[in-house]
Amino acid sequence: MAAEIQPQPQARKPCLLSKIEAFQDVVSTAVIIPKEDGVISVSEDRTIRVWLKRDSGQYWPSVYHTMTTSCSCMSFNPETRRLSVGMDTGSICEFILSEDYNKMTPASTYQAHQGRVTVVLFVLEMEWLLSTGQDKNFNWHCSESGQQLGTYRTTAWVSGLQFDVETRHAFVGDQSGQVTILKLEQDSCSLVTTFKGHTGNVTALCWDPVQRVLFSGSSDHSIIMWDIGGRKGTAIELQGHNDKVQGLCYASHTRQLISCSSDGGIVIWNMDVSRQETPEWLDSDSCQKCEQPFFWNFKQMWDSKKIGLRQHHCRKCGQAVCGKCSSKRSTIPLMGFEFEVRVCDSCHESITDDDRAPTATFHDSKHSVVHMHYEPTTGNLLTSGTDKVVKLWDMSPVVS
Ligand SMILES: [Zn+2]
Ligand SMILES: [Zn+2]
Repeated sequence: MAAEIQPQPQARKPCLLSKIEAFQDVVSTAVIIPKEDGVISVSEDRTIRVWLKRDSGQYWPSVYHTMTTSCSCMSFNPETRRLSVGMDTGSICEFILSEDYNKMTPASTYQAHQGRVTVVLFVLEMEWLLSTGQDKNFNWHCSESGQQLGTYRTTAWVSGLQFDVETRHAFVGDQSGQVTILKLEQDSCSLVTTFKGHTGNVTALCWDPVQRVLFSGSSDHSIIMWDIGGRKGTAIELQGHNDKVQGLCYASHTRQLISCSSDGGIVIWNMDVSRQETPEWLDSDSCQKCEQPFFWNFKQMWDSKKIGLRQHHCRKCGQAVCGKCSSKRSTIPLMGFEFEVRVCDSCHESITDDDRAPTATFHDSKHSVVHMHYEPTTGNLLTSGTDKVVKLWDMSPVVS
């Protein structure tokens, strides 16, 4: 009798449920409809489509609407079934979807921007429609009257926008790498502060109103967690992507952050651990371990007849060290370094195997992600790629 083949234990990973592939161009934004096997997509191919899962298991459009120009972004409110679509022309078109998602009725149009709308966000509690455009304006309109209420000039194009209903703060992430925090009134706004931490564009923002934490993702491959609720000015860096971060979603019920990047990487971060801030890099004219001079320290080089060395920094203690005193590499997950980084020899000794236990899991969506949406009630994740494909994933094996 042939030996029984034991199945290998499966590594826990997102499970691909479906692919939607009928697009002529990239899907700029798509969302999963809660409590419904459905997806709404807006695309550069000028279409707005509602997809419902049929008995065959495939998604077929129940609504197929063609606009005159590309659709750049959207916001969908499931309670009112209101769909706000940002257009390449600068206008925002609103539609109401029928209860069975088989019909879409135009509601109103806003002439919001001069140039492409980059982000749109409908806030039901305020009846506000927030939007940003390539004209560098951040505007908000009353969604009942259609009137523009206020405007704010941003320093660069905005690619991330979040709103805290309780305190009426808007978080505006732009292409210069900064996040501007604005306090909105009915028809005016005031600048509260600016967060500067990224060396590349801010590409995504995610706000957790419970813990009062803002996550920002950037083309510099990093994510920064800005702890506003903690009131200590703590900002934790999360390094786990090898390419531009393109999307961020927070699963508050499990306290996990889901992030994706343009190389297809999906990272799931356990946020139920306390991480430490990375240290400031110290400046020194000589290695803070072996005291050998660095190459610009001519006097000591001459006095001690030693060759000047290049300065490096230990990522754990921040000390300025030479290459010889920092020859080893280590991950430091509790400082957000899921990849190996330079550490000095004494820090390397102090890091235990327990310290090196990863606090994130790494997965491959196998397409270059431009947009992502997580729906907590179904536990499903949607990714849209440059390959013009939308993928639906069951995240329950990894977000739990
Ligand atoms: Zn040294
Ligand atoms: Zn060190």
